Amino acid sequence: AVVLAIATLPVAASFAGMLMQAAQGYTRFQPLLYLQLVSADTLPLIIALVAMAMGVHAIVNQKFVGHLIIISYWVLTSVLSNLGFNHHLYQIGVPGSFTYSDLNGWGPYLPRTIVLAAYNVAFCFLIATLGYLVLVRGTSAGWTERRREGMRRWRHGAGLVAGACTAVVLLSGGVYFHNANILNAYTEVRDAERGVKAWELEYKPLAELPQPRIVAVTLRHDYYPERRAAVWYGPMRAVNRNALPVDTLFVSLPSSAPSPVDRWTATSNTGLALDSLVFDRAATLIHDDLPNGVRLYRFAEPLAQGESLTVHFAGRFEPRGFPNDAFNNDVAANGSFMNSQYVPGFGYQEGGELGDDDIRQRNDLAPKPRMKALDDPAVRENNYSSSDADWITFDETTCTAPDQISIAPGYLKREWTENGRRCFQYVMDRPILSFYATLSARYTVTREEHNGIALEVYHLPEHSFALPSMLQASKDGLDYYGANFSPYLYRQYRIIEFPQYAGFAQAFPNTIPYSESIGFIYRQEEGDDKIDLAYFVTAHELAHQWWAHQVIGGNGQGSTMFSEGLAEYSALTVMEKRYGREAAQKFLRRELDGYLRGRGNERKKEVPLLYVENQPYIHYQKGSLVFYALRDYIGEEQMNRALRAFIGKWALQGPPYPTGRDLLAEFERVTPDSLKYVLTDLFEEITFYENKTDSARATKRPDGRWDVHLVFNSRKLKGDSLGNTREVPMADYVDVGIFGERVAGQKLGAPLLVEKVRITQPVTTLDLVVDAEPKRAGIDPYNKLIDRTPEDNSTAVEAGS
Ligand SMILES: [Zn+2]
Repeated sequence: AVVLAIATLPVAASFAGMLMQAAQGYTRFQPLLYLQLVSADTLPLIIALVAMAMGVHAIVNQKFVGHLIIISYWVLTSVLSNLGFNHHLYQIGVPGSFTYSDLNGWGPYLPRTIVLAAYNVAFCFLIATLGYLVLVRGTSAGWTERRREGMRRWRHGAGLVAGACTAVVLLSGGVYFHNANILNAYTEVRDAERGVKAWELEYKPLAELPQPRIVAVTLRHDYYPERRAAVWYGPMRAVNRNALPVDTLFVSLPSSAPSPVDRWTATSNTGLALDSLVFDRAATLIHDDLPNGVRLYRFAEPLAQGESLTVHFAGRFEPRGFPNDAFNNDVAANGSFMNSQYVPGFGYQEGGELGDDDIRQRNDLAPKPRMKALDDPAVRENNYSSSDADWITFDETTCTAPDQISIAPGYLKREWTENGRRCFQYVMDRPILSFYATLSARYTVTREEHNGIALEVYHLPEHSFALPSMLQASKDGLDYYGANFSPYLYRQYRIIEFPQYAGFAQAFPNTIPYSESIGFIYRQEEGDDKIDLAYFVTAHELAHQWWAHQVIGGNGQGSTMFSEGLAEYSALTVMEKRYGREAAQKFLRRELDGYLRGRGNERKKEVPLLYVENQPYIHYQKGSLVFYALRDYIGEEQMNRALRAFIGKWALQGPPYPTGRDLLAEFERVTPDSLKYVLTDLFEEITFYENKTDSARATKRPDGRWDVHLVFNSRKLKGDSLGNTREVPMADYVDVGIFGERVAGQKLGAPLLVEKVRITQPVTTLDLVVDAEPKRAGIDPYNKLIDRTPEDNSTAVEAGS
C-alpha cells in the first residue's frame, strides 16, 4: 500500500504540472516525459528509502533507535558528500545528478539512472526483507520464538526475495563499478586537487620559457553523434615573436587526468586521447606527461625570432560507459559544443591552477592573487582569453551525421557529403581571437536579413518562442552598436542552441552558442512584468562582438570591466530604447540587489570596478550600474564619443593590449571638471550612498500649480576591500524627482520634475513647484546611485498645510 501510494506521486506531479502549463497557455504536453523524469530518478529512491526505513525499524524493533539510525544515516551521507566522497555505491538513496535536455533528451544519463535505480531498490529491499525476518508482531518477543518465526518466513518466500535482491545488488553494483571505476576513473576531489597541485609545482617554474605564438589554425572536426565521439586534427602555424630563440616547446593539451569541478566533485575525463603531434622541424620529445596535458620537446635547431613552426595534431574523444558523476557532454547525440580548449596550445596555462584560496590552503599552497595588478606591465603582453596567441586566421572543416548541421566561426564556403556524412567548411575572412567553438545538432534554421547582415538562429523546431525577441535584439543591437561604437565586423550573426548542460550563452566571432535553458525553452509573455531574458542575453552577446572581439583587455585586473561590463551596459541601453525607461529601472534595481548580494558573499576582497578580478557581481551588476550612471551624468552623446574613441584606438590591436586605464582616459576626456569626482567614485573607489526621503508635502497654489516641500537625508560612504565603510563629506549632484499619477507598469508615476541638485548637507530641504498634482517624490528616485537601502529614496506626497 505504501509503495502504491508513493507510485501515484509522480502521476499526480505530472498531472499538476500539465494543469499549470495549460493555465499558462502552453500546450506542448509531454506526459510520458514528465512521468519518466519524476519516476526514473526520484521514485525508485523514495521506494528504496521507505523500504530501508521499514527494514531498519523492524530490525532494531525500537521506534526511537530506528529513527536515530535513519537520521544518522542521512547526516552521514551528506557529511561524506561534503568531504568529496560521492561514490553512488555507498551513497544509497542519494540521487545521481542528471540533466534532461529537450535537445538531447536523456543524453548519456539513462543507463546510469537505470543501474542505480536497480541497485538502490534491491539493496533497500534486502534490508526490508531482513527486517521482515525478525519483525515482531504483538508482544510475544522471546528470542527463540523470533528465530523460529524468522526461519518459517525465510522458507515461505522471504529467502527467495533476499536471494533475488542480493543477486540484483551484486549484478547492478558490479555493472556500476565497472563503468564508474574501470571504464572511467572515479576520483575523490581531494585526489584530483593533489594532481593539479603536483602539475602546478612541476610546471609553473617553466612559465617564463619563451614560446611561439599561434597565428593560424586550420581545423578539421569530425563528429560521430551516434556514439558521442569526435576527432579533430589539423595544422596550426605559430611564430616566435620573442627576442630569444625557442629551444624547448611546451605543448599544453587537454588533460586526461581527473580534475576538480567544484569543491566536491572531480571529472573522470577518460576518453580523451592525443593521436599525433608532429612538427615541421626536428624535435625530440624530452618529457611526456599526457595525463596532465603536458609535453616538452627540444628542437634540434632552436626557433629563431620571426621563424615559424607548423604543428600537425590529432585528438580524439571517445567516451566509455558512464562515470560516477561529472559527465563530459561536450559531444552529444544531438547538441555537441566543443571549444578551442581541445586544441593544443603553448606554454604553462596558469588558468589551470587551483584558484580558490581555501582549496589552495587545504593543499598547502600559498594563496594567489586572482589576477595580475592593473599597472603591472606584463598585463599588456597577453589578452585575457589566451596566453599563446593574439589575432589568428581561422579555417575549419567540420563533418557530422547526415541529419545534423555543424557550425564554426566564419562563413560557409562549401557544403558536401563525404562517406555519407555531411561536411561544412567555414572560413573567417579577418583575424580573430584564438577562441572558437564548433557545434553540431539537428537544427532548424530561422533566417532574416537586416541591412545586409544575415541573421540566423539554429534551433530545435519546437523551440520558437523566443525567436522574435532574439531577432529583435539582434537588429536593435546591430543598429545601435553599429551607429554609435563602430561598424559590425561581420556579414552574419548566428545564434546556435545547445543543450542545457551549461546555462550560458557565449560570444565567438559571428557565432553565439546559446543554452536552451536561458533562451529557448523559456517564453516571454505579452505584458509580462519580467525582463525579456532572451532579448537581453542576445543583445549582451551581440555587444561582445565589439567588447571582446574588437577590443580585448590585457590579462589582468580591470579587463572584464570593458568586456562584460560594457556588454551588459550596451544591452541595457538597447533594451531601454526598445522597452522604455521603466524596464531599464527594473533591470537596474535587480542589478543593484545582485551587486549588494554579491559583495556580501565575497570571500576574498571586493575591489573597485577599475580593478575587477573577473568577479561577476562587479563586472556585470556593478558594471551596468556604473556605466548607466556615468551616461546619466555626461550624456549619451559624450558617452558614445568616449566608447568610439576607445574602439578607434584599440580595436583588433595587441599586444600591447589595453587596460581599464585606457578606457578611463577616454571618459576623462569627455567629462567636465565639475563631474570628474564621479569617475573617481564610480571606477576607482567603492562608493555608496544612503539617500532617504523624510517627507514630501504639497499644497495647491492659486495659479493651479503645486508647491512641494521636500526633506531628505544624504550620506556618502567609501568602502574598503573587506567590506568596511566610512563616511565622507558630500558635494555631489544627485537626482531629485517629483512624480504624478501612476499608470500601469510604472513604479514611480509620470515624472513632473527630475533634476540634478548639488547636495552638500546631511539634511536638505527643498521647495519646488510642479504643474500637476504630485503623488510621489524623493532623492535619487531611480536608484542610479549605489544605495544599500534603495527602497526609502522616494515617498508618497502628503497634503501640506
Ligand atoms: Zn558576457
